[in-house]
Amino acid sequence: MAQQLVFEAPRRKVPPQHLADFDAAGRIAAVEALGLPAFRANQLAHQYFGRLTADPHQMTDLPAAVRDRVAAAMFPKLLTAVRVLACDAGQTRKTLWRAGDGTTFESVLMRYPQRNTVCISSQAGCGMACPFCATGQAGLTRNLSTAEILEQVRAAAAALRDDFGDRLSNVVFMGMGEPLANYARVVAAVRRIIEPSGFGISARSVTVSTVGVAPAIRKLADERLAVTLALSLHAPDDELRDTLVPVNTRWNVGEALGAARYYAEVTGRRVSIEYALIRDVNDQPWRADLLSERLRGALGRRAHVNVIPLNPTPGSQWDASPKAAQREFVRRVRRTGISCTVRDTRGREISAACGQLAAGG
Ligand code: SAH
Repeated sequence: MAQQLVFEAPRRKVPPQHLADFDAAGRIAAVEALGLPAFRANQLAHQYFGRLTADPHQMTDLPAAVRDRVAAAMFPKLLTAVRVLACDAGQTRKTLWRAGDGTTFESVLMRYPQRNTVCISSQAGCGMACPFCATGQAGLTRNLSTAEILEQVRAAAAALRDDFGDRLSNVVFMGMGEPLANYARVVAAVRRIIEPSGFGISARSVTVSTVGVAPAIRKLADERLAVTLALSLHAPDDELRDTLVPVNTRWNVGEALGAARYYAEVTGRRVSIEYALIRDVNDQPWRADLLSERLRGALGRRAHVNVIPLNPTPGSQWDASPKAAQREFVRRVRRTGISCTVRDTRGREISAACGQLAAGG
């Protein structure tokens, strides 16, 4: 029997509130509640998002006498880096985080010649049960708070600055979890990632990846944030997609693509279609043709197909497609005028690649 889909995260003690949980108005209310003037809110936001400082004791523009109070009320330590693994000569780094309640999850920092990308988690675990993904096998522990999501971004930006003298340019919600199943917290985090008074990263450099929660895709379009949407399609036909991405039994290929089309229309952005290529499962030439046909119908030229060679996961009987099958798949998609590239997979040897995040000890 298929594993059950979990949309409602288990109820747990919520993490303490943090400056990064608040929007601008909330920050003012929070500092006023501490008996501080409203202008301190901007100062704290600048320290956190601009200078990447999360410890009020290092905020020299804050009166020494109030630092303890601000620290206790607005900067609880949310995450501890338990382990950092690196590969690609230090260009790929995976961090295992532990939250205050012991929950663990991972993020991955990737340096490229022209960009620096952090792949962040939106949930600890995942309830979507895709059989080829290690995260999906372990089930959902809980939603991450907005501040827990943003702390991953801040840590990545600080590491780039301190270790490489470089800047963070891209944020992808492609770590653990289904971002659109933790909708409100993810959208709040996205706002703070792209706002000039937040991390100030350009919206088009932020990618939200989803299994295809169709109503949430439409809602996201209506937020007008114009971030890049990635849809994890993996099969063009319902029969196969029902087994690879179990949420397909709720919102099928047609509904997922309909929502993607709405997203493209409202935002004017191209939608990335993720397709993990699995030997003898979804890599047949006829499926490449069907994929192209369906994408042409739904998105026209507003589709970009990202082929991801399947990464190995524990206990899975599936393999990546042979190179020749992969080349033929890409060729068939491209010949219909749809752009298609093969994702350069990073971090396989440290289990940091797509679908490998499991946060095991
Ligand atoms: N839940 C969201 C966010 C995770 S993004 C989503 O599914 O889109 C992680 C991406 O890696 C998804 O496209 C996912 O389908 C893909 N993936 C999962 N397991 C994989 C594997 N073993 N090899 C390659 N890609 C995989």
